[in-house]
Amino acid sequence: MTTTATTTDSAVRRGPADTSLFSAEALPPLQHFIDGAFRAGRGTETQAIVDPCTEAVICEASQGTAEDVDAAVAAALAAKGSWGRTTPKKRSEVLLAIADRLAENADILARLEAWNTGKPLMVAEDDVAGSIDSFRFMAGAARATTALAAGEYAEDHLSVIVREPLGVIGVVTPWNYPLLMAAWKIAPILAAGNTIVLKPSEQTPLTTLKFAELIADLLPNGVFNVVTGLGPVVGDRLSQHPDVDMIALTGSVNSGRAVARNAAETIKRVHLELGGKAPVVIFEDADLAAAAESLRAAGYWNSGQECGAGCRVLVHESVADRFTQLLVEQVQTLVIGEPTAGEDIELGPLISKAHYDRVLAHLERAKAAGAKAVLGGGALQGPGYFVAPTVLTDVPEGAACSLEEIFGPVVTIETFASEEEAVTRANQVPYGLAASAWTLNAQRGHDIASRLDAGTVWVNSHLVLANEMPWSGFKSSGYGRDLSAYALDDYSRTKHVMHHKGR
Ligand code: NAD
Repeated sequence: MTTTATTTDSAVRRGPADTSLFSAEALPPLQHFIDGAFRAGRGTETQAIVDPCTEAVICEASQGTAEDVDAAVAAALAAKGSWGRTTPKKRSEVLLAIADRLAENADILARLEAWNTGKPLMVAEDDVAGSIDSFRFMAGAARATTALAAGEYAEDHLSVIVREPLGVIGVVTPWNYPLLMAAWKIAPILAAGNTIVLKPSEQTPLTTLKFAELIADLLPNGVFNVVTGLGPVVGDRLSQHPDVDMIALTGSVNSGRAVARNAAETIKRVHLELGGKAPVVIFEDADLAAAAESLRAAGYWNSGQECGAGCRVLVHESVADRFTQLLVEQVQTLVIGEPTAGEDIELGPLISKAHYDRVLAHLERAKAAGAKAVLGGGALQGPGYFVAPTVLTDVPEGAACSLEEIFGPVVTIETFASEEEAVTRANQVPYGLAASAWTLNAQRGHDIASRLDAGTVWVNSHLVLANEMPWSGFKSSGYGRDLSAYALDDYSRTKHVMHHKGR
C-alpha cells in the first residue's frame, strides 16, 4: 500500500554505488556483551539488520533469550557493590574516559549509526556529539550533588541525607536515536553508581554494541551489559527480573505500559520516556518567518522520527495562510537522500518497511478525513523507505493525524480563533512531552508557557535541548527525567540517617 508523492521537486539523492559508509569488517561483534566480554547467547535465532535506504541486509544480530538476560543481570548484580562504592571522583574519571573514547571514534560511530538508520550524517554526527556531552556533563554533575542541609531537625538528633545508587538498572532503548538515547541513560546511571543491563531496539543494535566494544576496557566487568533482541522477550524478562531495581524505557506508550505492568509485580522503580505530539501554537503577533524556519528543522529533523518534533501547528486564523506559505517555502528546500549522497543531506528514510507503511497509512487516512497535502503527502521513489516531507492543511478537528503520533516527516496545520481555544486544543492530545508558543508579547509567552501541559515548553523556539536541563514528559509521555542533575536524582535513592548526639 504505497502512494506516490504529490510533490515533484522532492527527489531522493542517491550516493555513488561504490561508496560505502562503513566497512563491514569494522562492525562490532554481533553477540551479547555480558560481564565484560562478547558472548554467544543461549538461543539460535537472529534478527536481520536492514539498511533503510537500500533495503539490503547489513548483518544478523543475536536474538537474546530470558536466560541471556538472567546471565547479564547476574553479572550486573555481582558488580554493583564495588562500583556503587567507588567515589564520585573515580566514576567521573571513568565517564570522562568514555567521553574521550567516543570522541576518538566519533566518525566511526556516526557512520555506523547512519548506515543502520539511514539518517543523514549531519543528524548522526549531532547524535554522537550529544552522546559525548552527556558523559562529560554527568562526569561533572556526579561530583556536585546536592541535598537538604544536614542539621538538628529533632532535638538531640543530627539528620544526614545519604545518596545511594539504586543497584541494577534495566534499560530499554528505541531505534530513532539508538546511541544518543542509550547515552542519555548510561551516563547518569553509571554516574550515580548503578550497574546496567541494556537492551537496544532490535532494529538498531549496532552503535550500542560498538559502544560496548569501544569502552570495554574502561569499566569493571559486569558494570555495563548489553543483551540484544526483542522487546517482548528480552525487555519483558528485564522488567520482570527480581534482581533488577529499576526499569528505564524510552519508546512507545504501549511498551511503557508493558514494562510498568511487569514492574508492579516486584515493585521496582520505573522511568519512562514515551511518545509525543508536540503542539506549536502560533499567535497573530508571532515572527512567522522565524517560526517557519524553526519548524523546517524541528518538524523534520530525523525525518520527523523525533518524540519532541513540532508536528502539530495551531496557528491563529488571521495569519494561517501566510504561515502555511512560509512553511511550505522552507520545507520544500530540504535536501533528501542517502547518507552517502553528501554532507548536505538533511532528510533520510524512515526506519523500516513496517513504519513506512504505518506513516503512509496515516497520510491516506488524513486525506480521506478531508486533510489536504499542500506539500508531499506520500512515498518517494524507492528503494528505501523515503516519505516526502509533508504539510497537511484543512485538518478536521479531532482527526487522527492531529492527535496521534505519526512519527514521520509530517506537520499538520490547524487554526484557532482565540487564546483560550489555542490552549485547550494544544492540551487535547494524550501526550505531554513538549510544546512551543510563538508570540512577540512577553507577557503572553509567560502565560501560555504556564498553561501548556508539557515537560518542555519553548517560547519562540522549538527542539533546542541542553544537557544541563531535564527532558521529561507529562501525561502519556511518561515520567522520570532524562538529562540534567534531575536524572541523577531519578537514578539514585536518598537515605535519611539520624544520629543521637548524646549516645
Ligand atoms: P517501541 O516502543 O516499539 O520500542 C522501544 C523499545 O521497547 C525497543 O527496544 C523495543 O524492543 C522495546 N519493547 C517493545 N515491547 C516491549 C515489551 N513488551 N517489553 C519491554 N520492552 C519492549 O518504540 P520505538 O518504535 O523503538 O521508538 C519510537 C517511540 O519512542 C515513539 O513513540 C517515540 O515518541 C518514543 N521516544 C520517546 C523519547 C522520549 O524522550 N520521550 C525519545 C525517543 C523516542
